[in-house]
Amino acid sequence: MEMIQLSTTPAPTTDSGLYFDYNATTPVDPQVYAAMEPYFRQHFGNPASAAHHWGWAAENAVQKARMQVASFIGAKASEVTFTSSATESNNWVIFGLLTKLREQNPNGPIHYITSCIEHGSMLKGMQAAQKQGVEVDFLPVNKYGQVEMETLRNAIKPHTKLISLIWINNEIGSINPILEAAKLAKEKQILFHTDATQSIAKLPINVTEMGIDLMSISAHKYYGPKGAGALFIRSKDPQVQLDPLIYGGGQEKGLRSGTLNVPAIVGMGVASELCKNNLANECAHMTELRNLFWQKLQTAIPGIRLNGHPTERSPVNLNVTLPGIKIESITSKIQKLGISTGSACSSGSMTISTVLKGIGMSPEEAQCTFRISIGRWTTENDIQRAVEILSGAIPSKNI
Ligand code: PMP
Repeated sequence: MEMIQLSTTPAPTTDSGLYFDYNATTPVDPQVYAAMEPYFRQHFGNPASAAHHWGWAAENAVQKARMQVASFIGAKASEVTFTSSATESNNWVIFGLLTKLREQNPNGPIHYITSCIEHGSMLKGMQAAQKQGVEVDFLPVNKYGQVEMETLRNAIKPHTKLISLIWINNEIGSINPILEAAKLAKEKQILFHTDATQSIAKLPINVTEMGIDLMSISAHKYYGPKGAGALFIRSKDPQVQLDPLIYGGGQEKGLRSGTLNVPAIVGMGVASELCKNNLANECAHMTELRNLFWQKLQTAIPGIRLNGHPTERSPVNLNVTLPGIKIESITSKIQKLGISTGSACSSGSMTISTVLKGIGMSPEEAQCTFRISIGRWTTENDIQRAVEILSGAIPSKNI
């Protein structure tokens, strides 16, 4: 496999402002885009067309991408199933396991454990499972937004079938103790799933060594395209079995039907390889930039507060509160900044996010809170400009 160099090309878009919403989505890396392009045109075949070279080319590309993704997360290629998104992967875990368990034991009680600060795809999925008779515990978190191991241990019941925890929180960036949780789940013979959408490419992952049974990821969070996700399903110790969520033509060994989105899958593969080849450097660089950003913010805006854990946090995320300053009141002055005033997925609604509520924030404080997330094309200069824009937007009596 040829080596891919880390992109040195400029950000795909820069003119329209300063983008600080990499947790919501990332631009497609130009090398990823270049690799995808032929699969829209000359290699447009359906990977399920086994009778001609158009089909073979597409099928080969999908298998190559599967290996690239697997190698990035320390899995076997056969353990990676492509989906449309992390949302789908998360839903599949909840309901694919539920139907399988019901087949095996139609009247057996089923208990799932998750946390109160999961992404909506897990929270709402779990609420829907409750309506189907599953007992669900939504664990509380500490003030940093992390599940405590003691809380998890105490929640386990004889009929607990699944523990599912978000690895890095998408709003406040705190890291959950996934290794310890996976170990505990193994000891108790409970399946362990993690939503790794915000942790892939932000920290080293080896699902095999880390004892993770199921893991959801999404390409568009690490410089791949939207519309491609994957679910890792462990094949040994234990061999995890899920029923499909989507039935049809039997693609993905019958586990996930639907014609494969070949260009997006190719993109996910290349994005995985790019990130894998430069993971340590990129994470170290992001951490430095994030620390610099936080240092500059503190100097320019006294009283600014960091939410989430001070050190056990995503290398790309800062979630901050400007006490007494509603973000709404400075919106017109910070229009150039692409920041998030809530989880990207729930912005637009005025209700306080479950995550901020989960760490004990009041609705008033939540209105003074926003998320900054950096990425591959963030520069020191961007950070300096952002700090100037933000501090300039705040009425001087507050500084
Ligand atoms: N989980 C987390 C933690 C996320 O941040 C997101 C995206 N906001 C998702 C799941 C959903 O991912 P997708 O956009 O691929 O559906």
